[in-house]
This record gives sequence, C-alpha cells and structure tokens, in this order.
Amino acid sequence: MSIDTAKGVLGDATIAELEAGLRGTVVRPGDASYDQARTVWNAAHDKHPALVVRCAGTADVIRAVEFARSQDLLVAVRGGAHSIAGFSTCEGGIVIDLSPMKGAVVDHARRRVVAQAGMTWGELDHETQAFDLAVTGGLVSSTGISGFTLGGGVGWLLRRHGLASDNLTAAEVVTADGRVLRADAQQHPELFWALRGGGGNFGVVTSLEYQLHPVGPQVLAGLIFYPLDQARQVITRWRELTAGMPDELTTLVVLTTAPPLPFLPQEVHGTRVVALAGMYAGTPAAGEAAVEPLRQLGTPIADLMGPMPYTAMQSLLDPLWTAGAHNYFTSAFIEPSDAAIDAVLRNHGTTPTPFSEVHLHQLGGAFARVPAEATAFSQREASVLCNVIARSPDAAGFDGHVAWARQARTEIARHGRGAMYVNFTGDAAEDKVRASYPDAVHERLVRVKDTYDPTNLFRLNQNIRPSSAR
Ligand code: FAD
Repeated sequence: MSIDTAKGVLGDATIAELEAGLRGTVVRPGDASYDQARTVWNAAHDKHPALVVRCAGTADVIRAVEFARSQDLLVAVRGGAHSIAGFSTCEGGIVIDLSPMKGAVVDHARRRVVAQAGMTWGELDHETQAFDLAVTGGLVSSTGISGFTLGGGVGWLLRRHGLASDNLTAAEVVTADGRVLRADAQQHPELFWALRGGGGNFGVVTSLEYQLHPVGPQVLAGLIFYPLDQARQVITRWRELTAGMPDELTTLVVLTTAPPLPFLPQEVHGTRVVALAGMYAGTPAAGEAAVEPLRQLGTPIADLMGPMPYTAMQSLLDPLWTAGAHNYFTSAFIEPSDAAIDAVLRNHGTTPTPFSEVHLHQLGGAFARVPAEATAFSQREASVLCNVIARSPDAAGFDGHVAWARQARTEIARHGRGAMYVNFTGDAAEDKVRASYPDAVHERLVRVKDTYDPTNLFRLNQNIRPSSAR
C-alpha cells in the first residue's frame, strides 16, 4: 500500500527497500501497531506520520536520515517522546524513533557510562545505580535521556553536579548528510558545545557518554506539604534559606492542588497547597541538618521527607505525570523578589484545573559555576527557574488553560531577563527560541547549524534556523 506524505506519495517498493535495509522496523498507517507507534506523551499532539522507523541501532538511523533526505520528508526525532511542544511526532512525515535503542555500558572505574539514545532516566538510573553512581536525570523516570540532555537537563543533582548536559563528555551523532561523528572536547568541539543546550538541531544523537558521580543508594529526599495560606511565608523563607544551602541539597517549590492520596489528610484533598520537594545528594545522616529548616518554613500538613533509595526519589512523581493528558509548559528564569513571589501566587490563584501547577526550581551551586560560554545552555545567573504548567485530562477547555499559562508566564517573566528554558516550553515560535539564548550564543548556534545542518533537515525542535533559511 502506498502512503501519502506531506510531500507526495511513497510507493510500496520504496518503503520495502527502506525496510530491507533496516535491522529495526517500519510502522505505517494501517499497521496494527501504528496508533501505539505514533502516540507521544503529550496528548495535545495527535498527529499522523507517514512512517515511524523504529531504529535498532546507528546503522538504521543513518538509513532513515538518508531516506528522509532523498524523499524530502519532514523529520521528527524521538527519544523518550516527552517533548512538550510535540516535536517527536509529525503530520505526514517520518519519525526516527530511537526508543528501541536501550544499551548502556558503565565503566565504573572511570565513572563513565555510554548510553544509547532511546533510554529513559528510569532505565539509565537502573544501570548506573548498580554501581552506586548517577548523573543528573529528570524528575520523572519516563523522560528520555536524549531530548532532556540536549536541551539542558534539570534534576535533583543539579546543584551538586550541574545539568545533565554539563556532564555529557561525548556524543555520537548522525548528521543530515548521513555521516557519523563523535563530538567531544577534541573532535567537532563546536558541535559538542551546541549539543549541550542547543536541543535536537544538529543531527540525530545515537549515544551519549556521561561523567558519573557517587550517589546513593540511599538519599534523604521527599516532599513537605504546607497549606496555601502559608505559601507567601514558605516561599519567602525558602528564598532566604537558599542563599546558604549546601550544594548537595537541591529543592523545588510546587504550587499545586493536593491530590487525593492517603498520605495527605482528607480535608486538604482538592485544595491548593504548596509543596517543598528536595533531595540531599550525600549520606542521609549528613543531610538531616540541611533539610531540617525546610520543615520549619511554616506548619506542615504532611512531612514526607526521609531516607529513601535514589531510584525511589527519581520515580516519586511518576504517578502524577502519566502519559495521555493534554499539557502545555512555559518557563522563565527569574529572581524571586517579593514582587515575583506576588506574581507567582496571584497566578497560581487562578489556575483553571487542579492539575495545573507553578514550579520554582532552585538553581545555583555547581550549575552556576559552569562558565556561561562553556555550553550552549547559558542561563547560569538566575537563581530560580519557574515552570508554569497547564495540564488537563482531556481536550475540553485546554486552549483556555494554555491562555492562563501564557498570561501567568508573561507576568512572572517580568522578574527576570525574559529567557525561557527550551525543555520547558510548548512553544516553537522563533521569538521564544531567540529569547532563550543570549545574542552571541544564538549567533554561534547558527554557525554550528550552518556547518552541520545547512538545509534545516532537523527543524522540528526549538529551531535554530540556518543562514540559508533566513
Ligand atoms: P522526545 O519527545 O523524544 O524528544 C524531544 C526533542 O528532543 C525531539 O523533538 C528532538 O528535537 C530532540 N531529540 C530527542 N532525542 C534526540 C536525539 N537522540 N537526537 C537528536 N535530537 C533528539 N526537563 C528537565 O530538565 N527536568 C525535568 O525534571 C523534566 N521533567 C519532565 C517531566 C515530564 C513528565 C515531561 C513531559 C517533561 C519533562 N522535562 C524535564 C522536559 C524534557 O526535558 C523535555 O521534554 C525533553 O525534550 C524530553 O526528552 P525526550 O527524549 O523524552 O523527548
């Protein structure tokens, strides 16, 4: 059966030839697994690609890239399928799906891991924690390592060890012309710089090598819930505490609606609350003194902070972030002045659904000590990253929820320099991407794009347009 693409018709023989050259599989409309293969985490993006190439290895990726180029197909690249903007699927194009590629080799003596690009954080943590090692990973274990790392990578080890991308030591990349390159500090150093914060613009990353650190297996971590009427005091005291916090401790303020879970008193279920989440990346005993003040920011409704396995903390939030809901994120790097806290509280007060939230990620520590020019991720000065999340179980009213998030972000972003984090945005608009990078960084990214993807084959991302497309 031939397939209609956005650019014309692909004949059976052409698809059969593609398939014959793969170790993996091609899924197309009409196949039993098509609906599963085309579905991404964010149900707000319900698209119908012409082909999903489920790659078994680098050779399949080369073949898929060459095929996409020769057939002039729109290309979506997929790792863990968590793109908020829906970039890992497309209408009438090809999805290069790396999710079957899940190999990892840990060199525990050198504290390095080489991981294939289809792994999730849950899978990579599983491999590295066998040696009590870890690298900064996502707060939800089903997030893919590759999209996460290429955009930056904020997690519980951020203040101790920096972003995931700060710990990337090398990557294997299939470029738009089908070459396979190793990018590291010596080989293709500009590409290596761009991969650490510039997103999926420069090629298909097939494997990532990370520096690992001793972590766990037990850590001191969890959540402390406070009532909303104490939110201003909690956030203000938290802000004061952050100035003297040890790097081992990374915290997050979550303005949310209390879920109907047994660890929270029934009378607060469904009411707005403020939660203080955090992890101490050292021994639990050493963490007690650092964590104790977090329990005294107000009068807790519930204190769920205690020793737990690192892997348990890495998946603690999973039940709240299951796939299949409609989601929109938008973000801003800010300074948490009194006025900024006002803006956060005012906007949280008008959240349109109980699932919509405002997060304040504490930055600083090792993250802030990376020189701004070392990686393409260059927002090192702000002390807080605010993420405004609109989430709804279904499509009804979702546009209104997105409008709420955009408005909230506009008000909150006034308390920073206007930059957003490319991994926390549902927007692809050029001005939003532009605002995520300082001018000199954006110009440097364009030069790397011109070198490695001059025709913008990889454009389903927070796109850095090459000079030829300007
Ligand atoms: P995908 O949708 O597979 O990929 C996203 C994009 O990345 C692709 O469109 C492509 O442009 C690019 N890409 C992916 N893989 C490759 C590759 N191998 N080669 C080239 N380009 C590639 N971010 C944080 O920093 N910290 C968090 O704690 C965090 N938590 C999250 C929790 C949830 C539930 C969700 C949905 C997102 C979260 N994010 C977080 C944001 C996350 O980092 C981004 O959505 C990221 O893009 C996800 O990567 P992925 O591989 O899962 O996604």
